[in-house]
Order: sequence, then C-alpha cells, then structure tokens
Amino acid sequence: MLRERDLIARVRRTKKPETLPAVVEAATKAPFPGRLRRPSAQKARGPLPHTGLKNLGNTCFMNATLQCLFGCSEFCAGFVERQYPLAAKSPSSGKIAMAFAELLGDIAQDKPIVSPSNLRKSLTKIAPQFRGNGQHDSQELLRCLLDGLAEDLKRPPPPSPVTLPRQENTEIVEEAHCEAWRTYVRDNASPVSDHFAGLLRSTVECCKCSHRSIRYDPYLDLSLPLPPPPSSTVRSPLSAKLQKGSTSCTLEKCMEQFTATEDLTEKITCEKCKKPQKSKKSLTLQTWPRILVLHVKRFSYTETRREKLDTLVTFPTEGLDLSPFASEDRRSVPAVYDLFATTDHLGASGAAGHYVAHRKDQSGWRTFDDTTHAPTAAERLQGGAAYVLWYRRRDGGAPPAKPKLV
Ligand SMILES: [Zn+2]
Repeated sequence: MLRERDLIARVRRTKKPETLPAVVEAATKAPFPGRLRRPSAQKARGPLPHTGLKNLGNTCFMNATLQCLFGCSEFCAGFVERQYPLAAKSPSSGKIAMAFAELLGDIAQDKPIVSPSNLRKSLTKIAPQFRGNGQHDSQELLRCLLDGLAEDLKRPPPPSPVTLPRQENTEIVEEAHCEAWRTYVRDNASPVSDHFAGLLRSTVECCKCSHRSIRYDPYLDLSLPLPPPPSSTVRSPLSAKLQKGSTSCTLEKCMEQFTATEDLTEKITCEKCKKPQKSKKSLTLQTWPRILVLHVKRFSYTETRREKLDTLVTFPTEGLDLSPFASEDRRSVPAVYDLFATTDHLGASGAAGHYVAHRKDQSGWRTFDDTTHAPTAAERLQGGAAYVLWYRRRDGGAPPAKPKLV
C-alpha cells in the first residue's frame, strides 16, 4: 500500500534525485533530440531574452499566450536545458513539447524574431480547431497547449514508496484533500502539474439537513466571472448596452463572485437525507499553485455569436492575497502572489480584435505585440483589456519535482 506522503513527496521532492528502476528509466530515457543547441546554463536559468514572434496569419492569440508562458522562467528552463523526459506515449508523440523546446532554444539564442510555426503545426494536429486563419481565444489555446505539454511530459506513476522525513510535506499530508491530490498526481504528474496545478474544493450543502458533500477537483487556471452590473443600472438589454464600458470592478470582486455560495436550480440527492433536496454550492481554493493563471470571463456566448464584456477590472500587480478565498481549514496558509504577465484582448468585438502580452522581468514591464516589443509602464496594464492574468506565488510554493534523469 502506497502511503500518501510518499507519493506526494515523490513528485514534490527537490533533494537529490534517486536512481530510477530500470523500467522507469527506460521510459524516460528519450529526452529531447540532440539537434537543439544547448544554450549556456546562465541564459537558460534567467529570464528569456526579449524576442518577437512571427504572426502566422491571425495568430496573435497564440503569440500573446506564448510570451506570457515564456515569463514562467522556472517552467521554461527545463525545456531549454532539455531536462524534461518525454512520456513513452502521448497524443502528439512528444511533438508539442519538442516544438516548444525548440522555440525556447531559438529564443535563448537571442534571435530577434522567431517563428512558432512548428509548435502551431504540432498543436493543430491534436487540436484542429486552431487551424486556419481565424481569430481564436488565447485562453483556450493556453489550456490546449498546457494539456498537450502535460501529456508529452507525463511522468510514470511511482513504482514504489519512498520514505521521506514527515516535515517535508506536512502541509499536504495532514490535510483531508490529500487523497484527491494523490490521485491527481499519480495519473497526471508532469512539469505542468508541478507549476500550474491546484485543487478546488466544491461544497454542496443540503438546505434541509445541512449535510455537506465535499469534492476536490484539480485546476490549471481559474475562470473568473465578472460580477453583474448593479441592478439599478440594468433595466433592459438596451440600457445594459448603454452601460457597457462604464462598469468596473476589482479582481477581488471577481474572486468573491467565483467563490460565492449559489442556490442550485436543480435538487440534489442528499447523502444523508437520501432524497433530492434544495441545495447550495460553493467553491473555495484548497491548494494553490506556484504559477496562478486567472482568466477573466470577458466573453459571453449566445447561440450565434460571442460578445465581449469590457468591464474595467483592476488588479494588484503585487501582493494579491488569495487566503480570503481559501477553504476554512486553509486560510492560514500563505497565498500571496505577484503579477508577472498579462494577456490582453484589444477591441470591442468578441469575434475579432487583437491580442498582446505584457511581461515583467528585471528590466521592468514590456509589451509584446507579435514581432515587436517595447518597454511599457505598469499603469498601462490597468486599461480594461486584461483577459488572462499570470501571477507567481511569492513564497515560491511547494518546490517542483526535479527531473528524474540520472
Ligand atoms: Zn439532507
């Protein structure tokens, strides 16, 4: 019987990597091909150079997402240094991870402009919805890219328990959510889960007997609803339209909305009453990742079209505290984040528009617009176009697992 703390420790460990049993070693011995020139370790570890990305025909949605992802230097370094072993099997046969590594290799060599065409080609093979020259959603692309990378770099389940001192993962082991995390990690451990994954707690409470049914679900990003405008200002669709652009809210308000208790329209069978009952549901954060990706749900969908809500969302660039939105038993765990990138959608239309990225490194904030990039002021970020916000946990969060090649 594998012990939870051993399993979790295995994927979170930063101590010396152990020698893997032959079967696992064989499965992980096919790292990225040697055709990439290995950049210097110093270049790989630090922030990536500023590089423009070629637009391949309305691919600003992809370019903006990639520029933000390049800001995750701790995640990208493993690609540049070719440290992540490929999974033995994956939908793209490792091609997405290899193309991403190749792209990062080009950037690490300080080329002024690089083309993400190979990555696009690999991605569209498993995600044909991104083919063609149409405008697509940058957050959907991100999910697809992260899923593709996670599959390509998925680590095999640990073959045997590893005994580690308890204090290394006390935080995880002693919590009730560890079973859900254990299951997720067993089946999905990869550099993507190391950096981006957290757990949400979903609580459904019976209105009759107050019994609570709790479930934990993993997330790689959070999609935050915009709060509805004050009811006094919306009397009809026409007046709602007139209000467009004049509403504003804070990111914290979006988080409040996300974690608010809602009355469920359908009755849910209560585990205690054993009968369908009126119920209410709430979501809270149970664990939070090193890199937190927050997606502002700016687009609403009707049967025929996609409409954009241009509510001005203000957000902290430093010190975003998520602890008020954590589950009760987790509120004392530090959850402070600093912003390092945003993906912005420009334009009023939901069907068209343009994406750009803002990214911060030691030289300050910079705007990336396909092939061009230029310094920008932090104040420019708050202009109401923010669509995906990228935060880094201040205390570094739990350390990611070391690559297991020996
Ligand atoms: Zn009940």
